[in-house]
Amino acid sequence: MRSNNVNWRRQILLAGTEALLVAALLLLSLVLLFEFHRWIEPLVLLSTLVLVYPVRWGWDRHRMALSIRSEHRRAATLLETLSEAVISLNADFTISYLNPAAESLTGWSATDALGKSCAQVLDAMDESHQRTFCEAIMQWDLPGLAKYWTLSLPSGELKLVRASCARSGNPHRGEAVVITLSDLTVEQQLQEAIRHQATHDPLTRLPNRTLVYDRLQQAITRLQRSDQGIAVLVIDLDDFKKINEGLGHAAGDILLRNIAERLGDSIRHEDTVGRLGSDEFVIILENLQDREDVTSIAEKLSRAVRKPVHIFGHEFFVNISVGIAHFPGDGDTVEDLLRNANLAMYRGKRGGGSSIISYERAMNDSAMQRFTLENDLQRALRQQEFRLLYQPIIDMASGNMVGVEALIRWQHPQRGLLTPDKFIPSAESNGLITPIGEWVINQASADLDSWMRVHRHRFRVAVNLSPRQLKDKRLPGKVAALLQLHGIKPEQIELEITEEVLMSDSFGDLATLQRLRDMGLKIAIDDFGTGYSSFSYLKRMDVSRLKIDRSFVKDLTAGSSDAAIVQAIISMARSLRMELTAEGIETVAQARFFELQGNIAAQGFYFSQPTTAEEIAQLLAQTAPDGSCDRLPLQLQKTVN
Ligand code: C2E
Ligand code: MG
Ligand code: MG
Repeated sequence: MRSNNVNWRRQILLAGTEALLVAALLLLSLVLLFEFHRWIEPLVLLSTLVLVYPVRWGWDRHRMALSIRSEHRRAATLLETLSEAVISLNADFTISYLNPAAESLTGWSATDALGKSCAQVLDAMDESHQRTFCEAIMQWDLPGLAKYWTLSLPSGELKLVRASCARSGNPHRGEAVVITLSDLTVEQQLQEAIRHQATHDPLTRLPNRTLVYDRLQQAITRLQRSDQGIAVLVIDLDDFKKINEGLGHAAGDILLRNIAERLGDSIRHEDTVGRLGSDEFVIILENLQDREDVTSIAEKLSRAVRKPVHIFGHEFFVNISVGIAHFPGDGDTVEDLLRNANLAMYRGKRGGGSSIISYERAMNDSAMQRFTLENDLQRALRQQEFRLLYQPIIDMASGNMVGVEALIRWQHPQRGLLTPDKFIPSAESNGLITPIGEWVINQASADLDSWMRVHRHRFRVAVNLSPRQLKDKRLPGKVAALLQLHGIKPEQIELEITEEVLMSDSFGDLATLQRLRDMGLKIAIDDFGTGYSSFSYLKRMDVSRLKIDRSFVKDLTAGSSDAAIVQAIISMARSLRMELTAEGIETVAQARFFELQGNIAAQGFYFSQPTTAEEIAQLLAQTAPDGSCDRLPLQLQKTVN
């Protein structure tokens, strides 16, 4: 466009210059005639000019032809390399041109398509399948053409295209319409893939949480005015962690895929099975006539899952815990239904798993209490509401205080000082025992450090370790860092575990305990005799101490069955070269009994109630360099002697 303007301006300039030249020649002839009486005919000059003009005109035409040819070539290259398909039609709606992109989009070669009717080559329907592309063209509805069309290819394949159309030139002289088509198939596939990815779990290809929420919401809306119901089943695999930790995540993944398939195969096509995360699945059953059906479906699911699974040459039997919530009745919203099904599932888990439990309203109240306690515990950690009390441990042979046991308390702002039985079980079940346990080790190490700075006696602190803490593989590293921070030697810390931990068949827990043992920390079995442990386990873990449970000490009298048990424990521990502590010494008689047993330690209200770190510091202040303490043994010596 711009070069056209320049051409025109040049032509006008040239014509003007020529007219001026002619006028100047005439003027010159007249001046020469009248002033110098010499006549030079302008015609000669004019004819020269006239002769020059065709040459110049021919030259201009030649240059113009060259420029048109190069423009043409440029346009052709553009059309050939364009990713959009360009098709032009004659006035009778037959094909006059296809660019290469149009050839590959329509599946027609340009030579085959030439002269064919538009309908033959462009077999495309609009979104509502109301009319064909060529019908729209024949109605000259050019704006209506600028939208999405589904193109059927000769191969039978369907493609989504976006069209734009324009009239080209004069319809009476031939060419009528130029159509541009953009192939959206790849774009559409990409969008489809992105949408699928956002709504499905990549491992099992099941609907993920987002899609499950969406489907459940739709089901609730659909069934709100019908007398049929929906059931939501939350399913959790029992002991999935054992497989994951024992055989690795690859085995865990195979198992999850396998279970997903079995669940999917056990329900109707119109029902939904999804994965909420980890080993938690959900099933939405719609159009339920009878609530009883749900239980039998859940039983069917359990049976399907329980069939043996073979992974890496191992055979597994998996059990599931199922929690069921019904709509209407157990909740009106997606969140309520899922939460309540979850509550029911956890109720089953707490009862040992492999269960099918339907939601009941009462579950919510206890869940609310648990929730409040969990929140409170979190606040307690943040605001340092926990305290450590220490109970002295006495060596019965010398009467010296040889260590203390750290016992946690919670200074609750409303409920006062709480003993561990009020909060440790729930901290264990919600996992907060991990940070709480770390706090205990840190505080006990800090107190031990401050005692040791003043009194350089051999002294140890026993710390209770909950089974759940051993699930944290980073525990040994954290303990090492804390001991280093406070300059404590590992052998000064004794970790008290229960028999249950020792007998646990979890690969990870015992390995973590072994690492702590290898670091030099001592391991004591707390409340020994109340659980079930085998000698081989005691030996394997290199347990350094047994703490005889209070229940055997309580009714201890010479010759009683408890005395026989205690003596059996003592001789067994000695033959396994383990040290011993008797717990819960309350009376002179009990103290005397253990004093007579020789090399044994003891703790109990008889010697001291659990007390503060400051009180322990004072006791240590009264301890002589050889470890003897005036205050504690006095009471012991006075009564025992
Ligand atoms: P445990 O480890 O067996 O601790 C001994 C418990 O017996 C303590 O109760 C102590 O106060 C009590 N006790 C000591 N001497 C006597 C006595 O002569 N007579 C009677 N009747 N009781 C005596 P406490 O402090 O209430 O702790 C209870 C349990 O809570 C502990 O039993 C331990 O298993 C757990 N626990 C305490 N502190 C912690 C902690 O920091 N972490 C973990 N995970 N558990 C802890
Ligand atoms: Mg203990
Ligand atoms: Mg105990």
